[in-house]
Amino acid sequence: MPAIIPTMRTIMIAKRLWNGASLLENPEIVIENGRIASIVSRDRAAAPVRIQDGTLDFRDATLAPAFFDVHIHGAAGHDVMEASPEALDVVGGFLAMCGTGSYLATTVTAPLDTTLRSLSGLARVIEHPDLMESQDKPIARPIGIHLEGPFLSHAKCGVQPAEYLLAPDIATFDRLYEAAEGRVCLVTLAPELPGAVELIAHATARGVRVSLGHSNATAAETLAAIEAGAVSATHTFNAMRPLDHREPGILGTVLTTDSLYAELICDGIHTAPALVKLWYRAKGAERAILVTDAMSAAGMPDGEYQLGGFPVQVAQGRAMARGVLAGSVLTLDRALMNFMKYTGLPLESALRLLTVNPALMTGLTKLAGTVAVGQPADLVAIDETGKLVASILHGQPAAVA
Ligand SMILES: [Zn+2]
Repeated sequence: MPAIIPTMRTIMIAKRLWNGASLLENPEIVIENGRIASIVSRDRAAAPVRIQDGTLDFRDATLAPAFFDVHIHGAAGHDVMEASPEALDVVGGFLAMCGTGSYLATTVTAPLDTTLRSLSGLARVIEHPDLMESQDKPIARPIGIHLEGPFLSHAKCGVQPAEYLLAPDIATFDRLYEAAEGRVCLVTLAPELPGAVELIAHATARGVRVSLGHSNATAAETLAAIEAGAVSATHTFNAMRPLDHREPGILGTVLTTDSLYAELICDGIHTAPALVKLWYRAKGAERAILVTDAMSAAGMPDGEYQLGGFPVQVAQGRAMARGVLAGSVLTLDRALMNFMKYTGLPLESALRLLTVNPALMTGLTKLAGTVAVGQPADLVAIDETGKLVASILHGQPAAVA
């Protein structure tokens, strides 16, 4: 006889639910075995709310989809390029406390063999999340891979090690893609490099989204890349040719091409608050994406850490290597609060930027970014000031920082 597995059932109630598209007052969400089984408004539910053991009452909070970070290198002392289930378990445990439910494990430029090894390790964990130890505690999961490099500009590589940068090349890309068992969802590249346009078309045809960044491109080079299929821009303003009103360059083109998504690191360090406002006015509610670009020092005290294979010094919220910003120590819950503060936007407007927008950009809407029946029960509860009060991943509540 097959074993009878009891249904794990949780009911969540709160003041409001923003599901990725609209607001529902007095939601009652039933979660069974880590997935959302039903969503009703208590006003319309036939029976009064079923307060029972296992009911999570978030009172005045707004429930929303857990955050989805498409650009993150590590946290809590670990880099995703370690690519071991143990390292990703620690990263995921920390991110869960910050409201992130899923993320694209983001590589940096490294020797090709190192990157290939990391990609096959990451693919294994993405395929088998149960390899991570915390089956009984909620963790954020990698649901794909973002290759940030090696096809980047020497002039704008930031702290990425220049000796391992490569010209865009379809055969090299395919080796990376195969090593990752097709789990590469996003690749950041510099569109002005020889071979970039061909690689953009090739990656796009394989279902990989292309983001433009670490680039000194002119406006014409950027437009050619968008024409070839590029859909997003990587950490707008950072590692980009600065704005010149006679040659708009990549930055001017990113800000004025309405169809293009664009990432921003909203930590108050990578971009001044006034330019966060400018970026949002330019990109609008449906194309703006908040990312952390966090590295292993996120959630850790000041000190020396690794980003990919190189050392980074962290002091007072700044991660620096060789005098240049080297990733951030930002978390998405703080990015949300910063963004609301800098722009004055209400919570439900700001939430799009960490949930449904990155899901639509990457095409991963079945896995992240919305709250809907049948989806994994990955939610956050947020108070009216934008402060995270709880994360619930695969139906289990996580402690918040
Ligand atoms: Zn990065």
